[in-house]
Amino acid sequence: MYGGPPVVVVGNGPVGQTTALLLARWEIPTLVVDAHERREVVGSRSICQQRETLDIWDSVGAGKAIADEGVTWRVARTYFREHELFHVEFSDSGTSPFPPWVNIGQARVEQLLDERIAAAPLVDVRWDTRVTAIRQTDHGVDVETTRGTVETPYVVACAGAHGEVAREAVGATFDGRSFDDLFLICDIRCDLPDRELERRFHFDPEWNPGRQVLMHPCPDSTYRIDWQVPPDFDLDQEQRDGGLERRIRRIVGDRDHEVVWCTVYRFHSRCATTMGRGRVLLAGDCAHLVAPFGARGLNSGVADAEAAAWRIAFELHGWGSDLVAAYDAERRAAALDNLAITTRTMDFLVPQTDAGWARRRDVLERAVTDPGARAEIDSGRLYAPFRYGDAAHPAVGAILPDLAVDGRRLREAARRGLLVLSDRPVDLPDIGCRVGVAPQVAADDPDEVWLVRPDAHVAAVTTAEGLPGAIRDLLGRPARPTPPAQFG
Ligand SMILES: Cc1cc2nc3c(=O)[nH]c(=O)nc-3n(C[C@H](O)[C@H](O)[C@H](O)COP(=O)(O)OP(=O)(O)OC[C@H]3O[C@@H](n4cnc5c(N)ncnc54)[C@H](O)[C@@H]3O)c2cc1C
Repeated sequence: MYGGPPVVVVGNGPVGQTTALLLARWEIPTLVVDAHERREVVGSRSICQQRETLDIWDSVGAGKAIADEGVTWRVARTYFREHELFHVEFSDSGTSPFPPWVNIGQARVEQLLDERIAAAPLVDVRWDTRVTAIRQTDHGVDVETTRGTVETPYVVACAGAHGEVAREAVGATFDGRSFDDLFLICDIRCDLPDRELERRFHFDPEWNPGRQVLMHPCPDSTYRIDWQVPPDFDLDQEQRDGGLERRIRRIVGDRDHEVVWCTVYRFHSRCATTMGRGRVLLAGDCAHLVAPFGARGLNSGVADAEAAAWRIAFELHGWGSDLVAAYDAERRAAALDNLAITTRTMDFLVPQTDAGWARRRDVLERAVTDPGARAEIDSGRLYAPFRYGDAAHPAVGAILPDLAVDGRRLREAARRGLLVLSDRPVDLPDIGCRVGVAPQVAADDPDEVWLVRPDAHVAAVTTAEGLPGAIRDLLGRPARPTPPAQFG
C-alpha cells in the first residue's frame, strides 16, 4: 500500500473532483487546492453527460445519483425556418444500468461529487489556495501556493481555461483560436410537457433569423435555451428593455416561466501543445477547450481524469512503469480528435467565410425537400470515448463492448485492475494489482485472449501464450506466472 505524500490536484472543478475520487479509489491520497473561497453554485455550464462518463463516476460511487437526477431525451428534432427537417429517435442498447446520456447541470454534478469527496478520507480539499508556481525537481514536484509550498510525487492540473501556471510547468502553449461569435444561454423553468424528452435544434427560425437556437430539457422542468446572437448583443440591455422576455415568449408562448440563469459566451478551440511532462499532467479545460456543441468538454475531461488516475496509481503502487509518460500521447490525440469534430460542427453552424455561409444556406434549403442533403447538416456530434492507437484489430485501443457475464458488466469489472477475457487457462504475472479473468464473450474466436486496461479500453488482443508479453507491454514490468483471480 502506498504510504507517501499526497498527489496534488490543482482545481476543484468537476475534472479535479473526479481525479481525486479516482485516485482515492486506488488508495492514493490527494490534496486538492482551489483558488476559489468555496464552491459557488451559480448557474451551470455543462448539461449533457454521456454513459461512459456516468460509468466513470459510478466507479467512485456518484454515477447512480447523477443518472437518477438527470433527464434523458429520446428524440432529437431539427428544424429549418418553419420546416421540421427530420427527427431521430434513440433506442437503448447494451447492458448498462445507465441511459446513453443524461442532461443535468454541472453545478449539481459538482455538488454530488462533493458529497462523495466528503465521504472520502483520502481526499483533502483546501479552498482559497491558489497555485502560483509548479517546479519539477529530481525527486518530485514542488507546488508553490498562496499558503505555502507542498512537495508531491505528481501533479494533475485541472485548473480550467485559466490554468496558465500549470501549462507553463509543462512548457505548453495553448494553441488555437477564440471566436467572436456570441451565444446567449438561458436556463428557464417552465411547464412544457411536449418537450420534456426532446432536444430541438432550430436553424434560422423566424424568431432568430439567420442564426440558430438549441433547446435541451433538464431536470426539474428546466430548459436550456442557447441562442446564437448578433456580435453587438448586450445582455444587460436586453434584460432592462424586455428583449430577453420577448425572446423567451417566442419559444414558450404565454406560459408562466422563471429565468434560472442567463449568460453570454464565446467559444474557443484550443489544445495545449503537450498535456504532460515528467510528473505534471494537464486534464480537462486546462488542456483543451472546445465549443459546447457535441458536449465534448467535460465528458472528455472526465476521461482525462481516469487516464491520469490509473497511470499515477499504478506507478505509485509499483504495478507498472513509464505509464505516466504515455498519458500525453493518448489524451492529446483524444483532445485533437474532439477539436477536429467540433471544428467541423462550428464550421457548419457559424461559418467563418462567405463560401461557408453559402454552403450552410444551400444545404439547409435543399434539406427541406431532399433527404440526401440532411446528412450534410452538422448540429453537433455527441461525445464518444476515443479509440487509442491504430492497431489492425478494431477492438484494440477501443472501449470494451458493453457486455455482461453472470449479470456483471465487464466494463465495471475492468475498472478494478486488469481484466482478461479468455476461454483458455492463462498464466498471469504477479503485478500486485487485481487481475480478473472472465469468459471470452467479446470475440467469435475462442482462441482470442483480450487484455483490458483499468479504463475499460482494450490493451491487446492476443493468445493465452501471448498474454504475459501483452501485460508487460502495457505495464512495462516483467511478467511472472501466478494463479488467476476470480472474476468479480
Ligand atoms: C455554455 C457551455 C456549455 C457546456 N456544455 C457542456 C456539456 O453539455 N457537456 C460537456 O461535457 N461539457 C460542456 N461544457 C464544458 C464544461 O463546462 C467544461 O469542460 C468543464 O467545466 C471543465 O471542468 P474543469 O474541471 O476542467 O475546469 P473548471 O470547471 O474551469 O475548474 C477549474 C478550477 O480550477 C481552479 N483554479 C484555476 N487556476 C487555479 C490555480 N492557479 N490554483 C488553484 N486553483 C485554480 C478554479 O478556481 C476552478 O475551480 C460546456 C461549457 C460551456 C461554456
